[in-house]
Amino acid sequence: MENPIEIGHLSASSINSYLDCGLQFKFAKIDKREPEAIAEALIFGTTIHKIIELYHHERSIGTRLSVMDVTAAFEKCYTEAFEQQAGKIQFKEGKDFDSTLLEGKSLLATYVTQFPETGLKVIGLEKAFSFQIEGVPIPIVGVMDMVEEDAGGNIVIVDHKTSSRSYSSDDIDKSLQLTIYGMAAKANGYGDREIMLRFDCLVKTKKPKFEQYYTVRTEEDELRAMKKIQAVYRGIMQGVFIPNDTSWKCKGCSYQQCCRDWFAN
Ligand code: SF4
Repeated sequence: MENPIEIGHLSASSINSYLDCGLQFKFAKIDKREPEAIAEALIFGTTIHKIIELYHHERSIGTRLSVMDVTAAFEKCYTEAFEQQAGKIQFKEGKDFDSTLLEGKSLLATYVTQFPETGLKVIGLEKAFSFQIEGVPIPIVGVMDMVEEDAGGNIVIVDHKTSSRSYSSDDIDKSLQLTIYGMAAKANGYGDREIMLRFDCLVKTKKPKFEQYYTVRTEEDELRAMKKIQAVYRGIMQGVFIPNDTSWKCKGCSYQQCCRDWFAN
């Protein structure tokens, strides 16, 4: 008999992970299995994220880092991260450490040269949140990458992304992650402000691009998100973990052997 399902919280990424492939979610979050490999894209994305956070930390105290500052910081962090995970990292076909290092530097140079002077003030970086929704007895948790404020006291919640393509209007307007961040902002101190949401996206095209996408959420959007989260919670607690073996995630999945074994048994 399987052990009872225990889960302490949900987050935007764990909810999306369940929706993208229930079986992968089970291996990672319920069974807590060690990943068989670490996708290079994960280390790459985490390191880019860290350097962007550093850039905005300096911006919040009135300093602007140069292209040279951010590319040198990226090289150092990326090299260290690789050394720590030596032997476990899985590259996509045609990529290696040197090519991804160059790609990271080029993306960050684009970020620094194209990030606009918006006049918005950084009032929070890596801001943790937690809130409850009806029908789900565990908290919804997460971390907002950046919170900005305009001169009128309006709040902008920002999430940093790297992507291989520009976002569509559906990617932005229907993002469950941004809806959750909007709900979290209301429940975590900004309930009396106008809240805008934004993806800041570095696009990994041949010539990298930096794009900002603003959006807002209505009460109806929040209600839809709530229903979806309730259904995800019920699915998890009832042990419904359906493999999505036509998912874009399969190629870089860190549980491919576990998945083959699951299908075979
Ligand atoms: S290989 Fe595909 S179907 Fe199998 S667990 Fe991973 S993402 Fe899911």
